[in-house]
Amino acid sequence: MRLVLLGPPGAGKGTQAAKLSAHLSVPRISTGDILRHSVAEGTELGKKAKAYMDSGKLVPDELVIAMTERRLKEKDAKKGFILDGFPRTIAQAEALSKLTDLDAAVNLFLEPEELIKRNTGRRVCPKDDTVYHILMNPPKKAGVCDKCGTPLVIRADDREDVVRKRIETYEKQTAPLIKYYRDRGLLKEVYATGLIEEIFLRTIEALKT
Ligand code: AMP
Repeated sequence: MRLVLLGPPGAGKGTQAAKLSAHLSVPRISTGDILRHSVAEGTELGKKAKAYMDSGKLVPDELVIAMTERRLKEKDAKKGFILDGFPRTIAQAEALSKLTDLDAAVNLFLEPEELIKRNTGRRVCPKDDTVYHILMNPPKKAGVCDKCGTPLVIRADDREDVVRKRIETYEKQTAPLIKYYRDRGLLKEVYATGLIEEIFLRTIEALKT
């Protein structure tokens, strides 16, 4: 299965992508995670991307497209993938369409007020990228990753002012992709409120239609 996950920051793309990846036995490819690791490692790509990420803006298309193209060529992506956070612009969607066909684009949608709450309560494991939420999906032991015991961190771009900027960036640059995929008959709409498991079941049902 070759899937794209759309939705504003805080809609739960990372959480649902991880569940879908386990369920469908295909890799989750998160461009945000790849970029954050590049920043942490101080690579050339990371150095170029950091300022954009810290201010809630999109990293330029040419960098992200080249990075995603390289990742999609890896062996594990041959049997399918869940793209989490890519494409984010029409230019990225056009580039992706030249690289591969897709089975569906799932749009996780949610009221704007909910988004701020979701982002500001998010905690992530910097080692294995597991996503938690202090209220909705807390780790078993406060502050550490269930899987590897690494102390959890708050993403640099989850400060409320940056979250607002990321939502604005989403509305301007990424929301047009909903129509783009609807026009191509690939869009599946999923209401992303409720328990993680409920949203997951809704997504699985939507993929059957
Ligand atoms: P995410 O983890 O998906 O919320 O991404 C975090 C940040 O990484 C975004 O706010 C962007 O600055 C950058 N980023 C991730 N994916 C993309 C993309 N497809 N295009 C441009 N920038 C991206």
